[in-house]
Amino acid sequence: MDVIPHSRPTLGGKEAKAVSAVIRSARIAQGEKVKALEEAFSSFLRVSQAACTSSGTSALYLVLAAMGVGPGHEVIIPSYVCAALLHAVRLAGAAAVPADIDPNTYNLDPEDVRRKISKKTRAIIAVHLFGMTADMDALLSLGIPIIEDCAQAVGGTRDGRLAGTMGRAAVFSFYATKVMTTAEGGMVVSDSRALVEKIKDLREYDKKKDCTPRFNYKMTDVHAAIGLVQLRRLEGFIAKRRIIAGFYRRAFDGTRLGLPPNDPGHIYFRYVLGLNRDAGPVIRALREKGIECARPIYRPIHDCMGLKGYPESQTAWRRSLSIPIYPTLRRADIDRIIAAVRSLPGARRKD
Ligand SMILES: *Cc1c(COP(=O)(O)O)cnc(C)c1O
Repeated sequence: MDVIPHSRPTLGGKEAKAVSAVIRSARIAQGEKVKALEEAFSSFLRVSQAACTSSGTSALYLVLAAMGVGPGHEVIIPSYVCAALLHAVRLAGAAAVPADIDPNTYNLDPEDVRRKISKKTRAIIAVHLFGMTADMDALLSLGIPIIEDCAQAVGGTRDGRLAGTMGRAAVFSFYATKVMTTAEGGMVVSDSRALVEKIKDLREYDKKKDCTPRFNYKMTDVHAAIGLVQLRRLEGFIAKRRIIAGFYRRAFDGTRLGLPPNDPGHIYFRYVLGLNRDAGPVIRALREKGIECARPIYRPIHDCMGLKGYPESQTAWRRSLSIPIYPTLRRADIDRIIAAVRSLPGARRKD
């Protein structure tokens, strides 16, 4: 029996050719391809500035550092998110303050964010989780600078506005299994030239007049060459994901499974079902049938920090089931996944 992986990058001859051309040029570190990817990405988003980085995590850290976030400051982040956010905030020297989520979208609950704001709050990191853009209008109305984390929402929109164009700055990740990839890599975009200049300064250590701490968080031209091809394919990738999400929606509508928000701007980085029970045994049962599923968030932030009082994040963590969704999924795989999920005890039709 074939095993259907939970996630998989979509790569082909064009990526291979682009990488091979860079290798043959012998200019493999940060150079022309990185610059070309920054230009292509900023024109895709219609923002004025972009900086490639080594990862989404280093992008987050660099934005915080360039914004002057540090010791004595607080940064509000969702509790239901990967640990990269907690690390970036702590590396910057600030305190992470988790806020609970809206169970319908899995994104920050603006009301809980409001309760978490203090005199020390310097930024909110708004994550557009699973491909659904957060309620930016409600978050922006709180009056705190917002960093958009678009690691899972490249090309996503909300009310026609592109994710990554609404906050002070936005970060992206091009890790292997994200919607578009460079193997490892990240990006910062902003309309603030000063902010992105500062990020580019911190990103590299060589040839500087002063010796204050800087990093090596650069992307390479080998990786950027893959990214340039993937960016051209992005629209097609998203269209494919939406088609698969449509099959899933039609198959699971009317069952007891909680479905993702049905929003035209959703890009379905993940297809996450809300169960009425713990997802652990369900994940094991599906694996026996050769279908790899996962808890989409490994461990919520409040749990890492030993905090209580995050009921929605806790329930989302316990009961969320992420099923395979990516452009190379075949029709036969989709049918197998649908049949297996529909046969779960919690998936009976509503009476
Ligand atoms: C993947 C991801 C990151 C981290 O990106 P890396 O490139 O893996 O460092 C940050 N935030 C979110 C929401 C992510 O999904």
